[in-house]
Amino acid sequence: MQTYILEYQGKKAVIDQYPRAQIEELKARIRLGNQKLNDAWEDLRKLEVSDHWKAELERWHLANVKLSEYCSQLKRLGFGDCLYKDENGVKYKGCLEPLGCRACPSDISYWEKELMALPGASKRRSK
Ligand SMILES: [Zn+2]
Repeated sequence: MQTYILEYQGKKAVIDQYPRAQIEELKARIRLGNQKLNDAWEDLRKLEVSDHWKAELERWHLANVKLSEYCSQLKRLGFGDCLYKDENGVKYKGCLEPLGCRACPSDISYWEKELMALPGASKRRSK
């Protein structure tokens, strides 16, 4: 598989370039990446702020950037939807949930709809 370098705030990351034939592998990688980032976030929340914590947080941010890059690849390969929908097209996981999509390839702004559906948002709208 071909690779390229992604630069983010002076840091470099090697990104695999997925061919169209491996689009399902790319989707699986993004799902796994979201899971890993959510797990890592839960761990980070429990740690006390220290230099170690700051370094881990930076690593976590870089991992988010990498995952967004893979979402962009997925879009370029023609898939621009949330990865958490069942076979009937119903989303079973919110993009905005605390442990939802860290990176989402969707062209549709589900997170906006989810934001507007929050109890606080509807109250503000009805005023
Ligand atoms: Zn999503």
